[in-house]
Amino acid sequence: MATLDSDISRDVISHQEHRGSGAIHVIMGPMFSGKSTSLLRRIKSEISIGKSVAMVKSSKDTRYAKDSVVTHDGIGFPCWALPDLMSFPDIFGHDAYAKLDVIGIDEAQFFGDLYEFCCKVADDDGKTVIVAGLDGDYLRRSFGAVLDIIPIADSVTKLNARCEVCGQKAFFTLRKTCDTKTELIGGADVYMPVCRKHYVNNQALIKPSKEVLDSDKARRESCWRQLLL
Ligand SMILES: [Zn+2]
Repeated sequence: MATLDSDISRDVISHQEHRGSGAIHVIMGPMFSGKSTSLLRRIKSEISIGKSVAMVKSSKDTRYAKDSVVTHDGIGFPCWALPDLMSFPDIFGHDAYAKLDVIGIDEAQFFGDLYEFCCKVADDDGKTVIVAGLDGDYLRRSFGAVLDIIPIADSVTKLNARCEVCGQKAFFTLRKTCDTKTELIGGADVYMPVCRKHYVNNQALIKPSKEVLDSDKARRESCWRQLLL
């Protein structure tokens, strides 16, 4: 009994030592801005200094591979594809989770429990979490819970892409199709990065055109390409 008590108190002390010793770093920006590449670079840098790391991404994102984070330029890294984050310690194994120093999360906008998980990892468990995700959707609305974790983050990096029309810095993602679902997963076939000028100009064209096209389904497929060119 005495042993059990001392084990429990040692666990409690060990747990308390971890409290508040973690960190949260956020990498955000539009599509094609190098978020996954930047996340992988930081993860590899942690590995190079001997840290134990794990990568997680949403199981909704199966664009390139089911069990790896792959950047748009095709570089991959093994990861866990999960429907939510809070189940990660159970799936990964609690002993293995306890030994982790760093957790990388890609496509973080798809996780509804992002805020809760980041609090747990950094505040309670003393680990570093590096989060990469879209800050806004194709209508420039806040996407998922990525912006919610800014108040609890140590650092926030907003990356930019290059505008596909003019080559200037691009901060927004333009959808090329008529689909209005917020979570439409796709790559360069569906989305393109654009600067403010080309976002605003194309949205002005898309809005009135969409009302006409909604009543003419046969023409839907060809509409946006014509508008964007
Ligand atoms: Zn532009």
